This record gives sequence, structure tokens and C-alpha cells, in this order.
Amino acid sequence: MNYYFVCKRKLWLFLHDIQMESDNQEVQIGKLIDERSYSREKKNIKINDTISVDFIGKYNVLHEIKKSKSIEKSGEWQLKYYMYYLSRKGVKIGKGIIDYPKLKERYEVKLEEDDKKYIETIIKEIREIKDDKIPDKLNHKICKKCSYYELCYI
Ligand code: SF4
Repeated sequence: MNYYFVCKRKLWLFLHDIQMESDNQEVQIGKLIDERSYSREKKNIKINDTISVDFIGKYNVLHEIKKSKSIEKSGEWQLKYYMYYLSRKGVKIGKGIIDYPKLKERYEVKLEEDDKKYIETIIKEIREIKDDKIPDKLNHKICKKCSYYELCYI
């Protein structure tokens, strides 16, 4: 869901099991922030090999930890998708919160009825992207921070 909003090519590469995350500096910084933030909480909860929630707080509030607001929309829809997925499994989630520990800010996310319809449209489109040819490069400044940069441009 996150990659859908960031870059369709990145999504396609990921869907075809081409992963280059571990060596990328941006990814390492993100992981470090994640490890050092909210240390009392149980983190990175994988559910059914489908979603990976950063942590679940009091009153069933889902938390997603982000290091910056550069691609805020993707984080918001990622969290909405987790809420959608869990609600379909019968798990009642009160709300979601995107935490920016570096900025000392947080942002509340709710899943509305219209969001569910939109998520279903996106899921359909993601399946089509997987079956189609690899999308074009973005040629955007975010590419320099992407784990697939070398694969795309070098
Ligand atoms: S480097 Fe750019 S074009 Fe390539 S996958 Fe990443 S964001 Fe997409």
C-alpha cells in the first residue's frame, strides 16, 4: 500500500520479490529510529504474513512510526489499509496514529466508509500493476533516497 503511493515501479519490483532494502542508508536510519522509539512497546507485529504493524497501543490504537513527513500520504493510507484489513478479520480498531518521533509530532488517522471503497479500488489496481510490465522510472528527487536507486539508474 505504501509503495502504491510512493512509486508504482517500486511496487512492481517489490511484488516480484526483488528487494534491496537492507543496504540502503535511508532504510537503516528508519530502522534505527524505529528501534529507539517507544522502546516499552512490543513492535513490528506481523499478522498473517500480510501486514506488519509498528505497534499496537492502549485501546487497540495502531501506531505507525515515520522518520519524516516527506511522503505523508503513503503512511496515512498504509495505516488505513491495516485498519481495513483488521476490521475485515473482525478486529475492532479505534483509530490509527502516525508518530514522528524525530519531530515530536503525531497525526491521527481514521478509517471512513469512503476510505474502504477507495482501498478496494487500490487493491484491484495493485493486482493489475503486478500483472503488467514494469512501470517507468519516476525521475523524481525521492529516487535518490530509494533502496532501488542503483537498480533503476546505475
Ligand atoms: S529509484 Fe525511483 S523509479 Fe526506481 S523504484 Fe525507486 S522511486 Fe521508483
